Amino acid sequence: MRPVVLAIAGSDSSAGAGVQADLKAIEANGAYAATAITAITAQNTRGVSSVTRLDPRVVREQIVAVLEDLPVRVVKTGMLGDRAIVAEVADALRGRSGLELVCDPVLLSKNGVALLDSAAVSVLLEDLLPQTTLITPNVHEISALSGVAVDGLPSAERAARELLARGANAVLVTGGHLPDAPCTDVLVTPERTLRIPGERVESVHTHGTGCTFASAIAARLALGSELEDAIRAAKVFVTEAIRHGLPLGDGCGPIDPFFATHAAVGEQR
Ligand code: PLP
Repeated sequence: MRPVVLAIAGSDSSAGAGVQADLKAIEANGAYAATAITAITAQNTRGVSSVTRLDPRVVREQIVAVLEDLPVRVVKTGMLGDRAIVAEVADALRGRSGLELVCDPVLLSKNGVALLDSAAVSVLLEDLLPQTTLITPNVHEISALSGVAVDGLPSAERAARELLARGANAVLVTGGHLPDAPCTDVLVTPERTLRIPGERVESVHTHGTGCTFASAIAARLALGSELEDAIRAAKVFVTEAIRHGLPLGDGCGPIDPFFATHAAVGEQR
């Protein structure tokens, strides 16, 4: 049976990031995507013009409806919006056996709009982090969550160990912006530290990269891959999605998780 991933995230009207990116990446990686929406953003490739957070009870109702019926193996969280939503999501997931959790701790949009209130960070660390199979912060996010100013691989590894000490099972620092090793990701688990180098694809059309990477990992875990294999496969996938980024709009265009489908359809034309 097709494994199910539940994506809990915000809507992006331009569909490059957020729950729309999650849906595309999960399906393109072979799993079935269910969704629970936390917030609605009005945005295009130039930026975010408004953010409306949903009532935490509405978020919980969506999660409960999906978990009560669909055989969800992995939950992936993205934009959670505020403190009350983080607390509600953590509570709705707590104690459910057999669920893995991949948390992409989305804090800001690419142009700096807050997608999580700063007051929510402590709840995320206390209530959600201990439930995570994997948390996938970028350099900015790991600095904000750990309190360690990350400026290279050694500090990224130190910061990741801080999050392990606070209860995460594994931390993947996504290294798109690491000055000493661009595109090297750092995986830190209680047993080991692994540097995973990647190819740098120069492009401005990178909207949705973080969401797509974490969702592809979640899908691969749902299909039964081990953590490291899931990360390596997802990294190849997101690199190709960036290579096929779409110059839509005037700003930062979306990456394309359906590059393989579009290539196949294009060949048939
Ligand atoms: N989720 C939502 C709803 C967003 O609007 C954004 C960025 O604008 C993100 C997540 C994070 O996007 P990215 O994957 O580009 O970091």
